[in-house]
Amino acid sequence: MASTETGASDLAAHTIHKVNTYKIRTRFPRLIGKNAFRDEHGYGDEVLVKELLTDRGASGWGLASGLFYRPDLTEDELVLGRTVAELFAPDQGILDMSLSSFDFALHDLAGRILGIPCYKMFGNDGLNPVPVYDTLIYFDDISPDTRPGGLRQVLENCRYGYDYGYRAFKLKIGRAPRWMDWPDGLRRDIEVTRMVREHFPDCEILVDANDAYTVDRMKEYVDAVADVGLYWIEEPFRENLEGFRALREHLDRVSPRTLIADGETDPEVELLIELYEQGYLGVFQMDVQGDLGLGHAFGLTSWRRLMPRLREIGARISPHAWGIKLKTHYAAQFCAGYPGVALVEGITDTTEGVDFSAYVLRNGKMFVPDKPGFGMELVWGAPVTGEGESKTVSRQV
Ligand SMILES: [Mg+2]
Repeated sequence: MASTETGASDLAAHTIHKVNTYKIRTRFPRLIGKNAFRDEHGYGDEVLVKELLTDRGASGWGLASGLFYRPDLTEDELVLGRTVAELFAPDQGILDMSLSSFDFALHDLAGRILGIPCYKMFGNDGLNPVPVYDTLIYFDDISPDTRPGGLRQVLENCRYGYDYGYRAFKLKIGRAPRWMDWPDGLRRDIEVTRMVREHFPDCEILVDANDAYTVDRMKEYVDAVADVGLYWIEEPFRENLEGFRALREHLDRVSPRTLIADGETDPEVELLIELYEQGYLGVFQMDVQGDLGLGHAFGLTSWRRLMPRLREIGARISPHAWGIKLKTHYAAQFCAGYPGVALVEGITDTTEGVDFSAYVLRNGKMFVPDKPGFGMELVWGAPVTGEGESKTVSRQV
């Protein structure tokens, strides 16, 4: 293809001559509370980004990999002195998975050198604007322990999301067994789901159990919210053929439109594909970020490598983006470029030092900008030099 050849020669003309590592802070609009397995998530985080500069004056930047990320400046040696074409191909992504810390930065850099937005590099075959959902609705009724917000807080937080521009909410469920006993926890999960449906009749409702349920308890929950018309149930329990078949058959009887979404935690891709082909799994959800040092890891280039197979089976997709708004925008670019998007996970935060103004959220849809690369500008980050860096780790999810 002529354009790819042109792209390759353009990328070959640029050599990486400097790598900057910065720490940037993200702040949620409020305390993010508990979910099924983790205590209060806090107010935000610090993440590392990599900026790449070439000898011809081009630059690109992006989130580094690593959930519990320890600054590792030695990995910069992997890219220094090499041409962009040696590291990256526009139709594939990074050429070596050991470069995963530079996955987003290299996509951004290549897009800027070629003068195209990443979603066009991906094929411009998805949706733009992309439908998104508000993912910040946690167990706000029972968080924090010192001053639990009650049901009213859940509604207030949905209202905040609605006013912000969302028209779909994902509610965390699975208050039992960690925070409540099963009868009470199940009752509360049902109550919250029905309450949000009642107050936001024009919105899609998704739920996420973070694998806390059993098959039988999930059937009970589904029976009690059958008339809510849930859009998806995410991670009902650890994915397996038997359980997913049982839940899918039950959903077909009582809530046929409801999809099952899974794949964010320790994804077993072959099993997920089998579950999809059997008609049980409805949405693939591997993480858009790679090499996180925990179970949540997949990555942008890994997604790109998998897409020919997913496209062949007509898969619905939603790259997991929890944590920071940067990831929402990466997932939105992906779903504007590749076909099959269900709804993209929308994080609301203030990311200090980043200009996101080219992205617009309106009426539940994210407009992905027609700017080169990812279309986000790094204004300022705290330089990470490796000197005296604390080895404390950042808690993102
Ligand atoms: Mg989830």
